[in-house]
Amino acid sequence: MNEETETTADVHNVVIVGSGVAGLSAAVYAARADLEPLVLEGPEPGGQLTLTTDVENYLGFSKGIGGMELIQNGKDQATRFGAEFTHGTVENATLEEPPFELERSNGDVLQTRALIVASGASARWVGAENEDELMGYGLSTCATCDGAFHRGDDVLVIGGGDSAMEEALFLAKFADSVTVVHRREELRASEIMADRARDNEDIEFRWNTELKAIHGSQEEGVTGATLVSHPDGYPAEKTETSVDRETVDVGGVFYAIGHTPNTEFLEETAVERDENGYLHTRADDAGRATTETMVEGVFAAGDVADPHYQQAITAAGTGSMAALDAEASLETLERTEETALEVAP
Ligand code: NAP
Repeated sequence: MNEETETTADVHNVVIVGSGVAGLSAAVYAARADLEPLVLEGPEPGGQLTLTTDVENYLGFSKGIGGMELIQNGKDQATRFGAEFTHGTVENATLEEPPFELERSNGDVLQTRALIVASGASARWVGAENEDELMGYGLSTCATCDGAFHRGDDVLVIGGGDSAMEEALFLAKFADSVTVVHRREELRASEIMADRARDNEDIEFRWNTELKAIHGSQEEGVTGATLVSHPDGYPAEKTETSVDRETVDVGGVFYAIGHTPNTEFLEETAVERDENGYLHTRADDAGRATTETMVEGVFAAGDVADPHYQQAITAAGTGSMAALDAEASLETLERTEETALEVAP
């Protein structure tokens, strides 16, 4: 994607990194507060919602709404109030003091007095054959979003962590059968989640097994999957002679092998991240949660700071919170600057 050339002389009030539901919600709030936010659309414009078909659990759409449509509506809404959008992936950030500097991959440097990081977390993909074509057409990374479309289907869940257990338990309410396909013979999930899944009679497990290919088309959806078992366990020396290969009929495949938050560009800054890269936010003086990171004037919204809920509606909520927090922070910054001017000789 070509990045538009940006005039670097301007110092923006707020730059929002990410144009998923969190970034858009922040943009609507910041724009309505006359902050003229600039939204940077990264390599996955619109975020994870653009990977799903219908969104049925976002409040206010009684008949559901397409993921793309929801995102486009949000973009139109933010634009209507004065938000601007430009393409660009941030490679580096310098956050010692405002104005902060953001270097994009085309070399441009943007300056901003407040920064909202809403760059999301990307679901990891397995790398199976046909996954690019079938993502959103029976292949999904979100059971809560797409599970209800699989009533009566046999489905696979790929992964062995808490997410896989949670997805399998959710899918068991709709699907005829759920098979958890895990590459090892020992789950990574917590005991409580693993026990719940094991106790559910609609959930089966395939151990030491990997997904190699998904079958189907965008017209008919997922129709099957090729699984490869390693009788000697994973990660065995996977020679093609020591594997069992089988094609199974399934109507859906769900990836639950973890998410990677898009926070690499903050690696060299004082913004704190947990061991998986998710951003830490801090409490205010009264102990209440805020969206501010460990760097004053830098805020986090959506999945980038949320390894747990990861829902569109919670992302939108934290997006609005981040914009309100940024607005308050800019007011404080302005007062500080005015005071400094008054005392200056
Ligand atoms: P996770 O704990 O990292 O588990 C990922 C699973 O996917 C692992 O079993 C891993 O296998 C497997 N995997 C990774 N890459 C793979 C690949 N290329 N092919 C096949 N399998 C692959 O991720 P998560 O389950 O998303 O959980 C993330 C965090 O959120 C955890 O801290 C979890 O406790 C938390 N969480 C909590 C809840 C809850 O409490 N309700 C729900 C969801 C998530 P290996 O085991 O072989 O590495």
